[in-house]
Amino acid sequence: REDGHVYDVVVVGGGQSGLATAFGLLRERISNIIVLDENPAGREGPWDTYARMVTLRTPKHLTSIDFGVPSLTFRSYWEAAHGVESWERIDKIPRGDWMNYLRWYRRVLRLPVRNDARLDRIEPIEKGLFRLHLNGGETLLTRKIVLATGIQGGGQWHTPSLVGNRLPASRYAHTSQAIDYAG
Ligand SMILES: Cc1cc2nc3c(=O)[nH]c(=O)nc-3n(C[C@H](O)[C@H](O)[C@H](O)COP(=O)(O)OP(=O)(O)OC[C@H]3O[C@@H](n4cnc5c(N)ncnc54)[C@H](O)[C@@H]3O)c2cc1C
Repeated sequence: REDGHVYDVVVVGGGQSGLATAFGLLRERISNIIVLDENPAGREGPWDTYARMVTLRTPKHLTSIDFGVPSLTFRSYWEAAHGVESWERIDKIPRGDWMNYLRWYRRVLRLPVRNDARLDRIEPIEKGLFRLHLNGGETLLTRKIVLATGIQGGGQWHTPSLVGNRLPASRYAHTSQAIDYAG
């Protein structure tokens, strides 16, 4: 709510980039921040929504958003949950487990994420000050904005008219939708 409070940083997008940005800022003692995500809690990014592959393509041993903190790596998370030997048995990271890791990362680091909050418009007010317009009409003030909006940030979901105008809806689906493969 715009109550005169001015955030130092508002991070838009609570996927892995937004979460990592928040943690990176907190490690630099920049704590007057908030992360906004348009989705309900735990449904950020592609992993548990429109991605459908069984595993990530990324090799399991690559470090990612742990910032060099050993106990924050996916491997540590996996071994704590499934045992040390189990790590050798998996080839690539199962998609749902990666999302669970992100949920855990957010929780243990107590990252300040606000869900169901979509940024609709950025209004520059003066040098170094922005008003953010959220869905529902709410506004926030901030000095800096980080757009960590992922694929969604590239525009909007689109079905080519060649498909959308010529085929009955029962004959096609957009990847962003829940797809009934049996139907
Ligand atoms: C099928 C598939 C497989 C993939 N496999 C891999 C892989 O194996 N390895 C890999 O590294 N990458 C993979 N990717 C890429 C993957 O998208 C990124 O690695 C990862 O999700 C990027 O994280 P991010 O935080 O930048 O974006 P996202 O995870 O997309 O998060 C962005 C968030 O911002 C939210 N958002 C967007 N606009 C707004 C707004 N205006 N207001 C509020 N919230 C907003 C979005 O809804 C979303 O929750 C894959 C992607 C797909 C679709």
